[in-house]
Amino acid sequence: MGPGERKRLSAAIKGRAAELGFDLCGIARAGKLSDDGRILEQWCKAGMNAGMSFLQRDISVRTNPELLLEGARTVVVTGLCYHSEMQQKDPHAPVLSRHAYGLNYHDVVSGKLGLLLESVRMPDPGIRGRIFCDSGPLLEKAWARMAGLGWPGRHSVLINKDIGSYFFTGILILDVEAEYDRPFEDNLCGSCRACIEACPTGAINDDYTIDARKCIAYQTIENKGPIAEEIICRLGGRVYGCDACQEVCPWNRQTGCMTHPEFRLNEEIAAMTREEWLSLDREDYRKLFRDTTAGRVKYDNFVRNIRAAVKSADCQQSR
Ligand code: SF4
Ligand code: SF4
Repeated sequence: MGPGERKRLSAAIKGRAAELGFDLCGIARAGKLSDDGRILEQWCKAGMNAGMSFLQRDISVRTNPELLLEGARTVVVTGLCYHSEMQQKDPHAPVLSRHAYGLNYHDVVSGKLGLLLESVRMPDPGIRGRIFCDSGPLLEKAWARMAGLGWPGRHSVLINKDIGSYFFTGILILDVEAEYDRPFEDNLCGSCRACIEACPTGAINDDYTIDARKCIAYQTIENKGPIAEEIICRLGGRVYGCDACQEVCPWNRQTGCMTHPEFRLNEEIAAMTREEWLSLDREDYRKLFRDTTAGRVKYDNFVRNIRAAVKSADCQQSR
């Protein structure tokens, strides 16, 4: 493919991504991410991945798209905002993280990426591609940086200088060349340490990594066992995920993120009182949360989280 065709392909991909509602789209050359692989390996060796032992497996696959799609040439990275101003009504109710307000983001992002792939293949059905949204062994943040979308902040979440960090990333690997964006080389955290100071559990390390064992997001989403006692009193009422480090980030002060209807908080969930949360039965949970991001955890673990969130509010009162 000549430079003119590669340029046209990239413009077509970005144009279609915008039509599909993506807020960001960058394109990187597929290749090996050796440095990121080493950092991941060291992080796992230090035990910071907590119970996420799957992160230790297949590190070479995580850092090499060619091992996920034969002949991979291009990694398209998209961003979709989930910021929403709508809040839960009862200030004493267990608190949901913003990313869990709306429909299951894996389904929303993967659906849009599927349509993007269809458009890419329209003029040439021989083009092959694979899509990922938190669903495969890929270092999404590293690819987002390679595609020029931003940098991972001290809290380890990707930040874009125009829209902040309240967005989901999605990846489309293609076996065709395109025109590539320049990697985002800067780190715009500067001397700021606001997220480190705001983290309720001290989970943010000094080296731009987090200790998942202490992180509320890990404890309330990925953790399959009980929540550690020393974490419960620091939950601050959070029931699923945690936004503390993103809320204080100066790059989120004037976020350019628009609310997408898919990620608005469901009115019924927004209206739930603390008592209704505490009496949520299996059937209510299925009805209310089945299609949402928070519905990813099993009912028993959701109830574990509700009890821990309520207990944490009691810890605060007795301090
Ligand atoms: S999500 Fe919460 S607990 Fe985890 S690093 Fe951020 S502030 Fe700390
Ligand atoms: S709060 Fe400050 S240090 Fe943390 S990610 Fe944002 S800019 Fe970086």
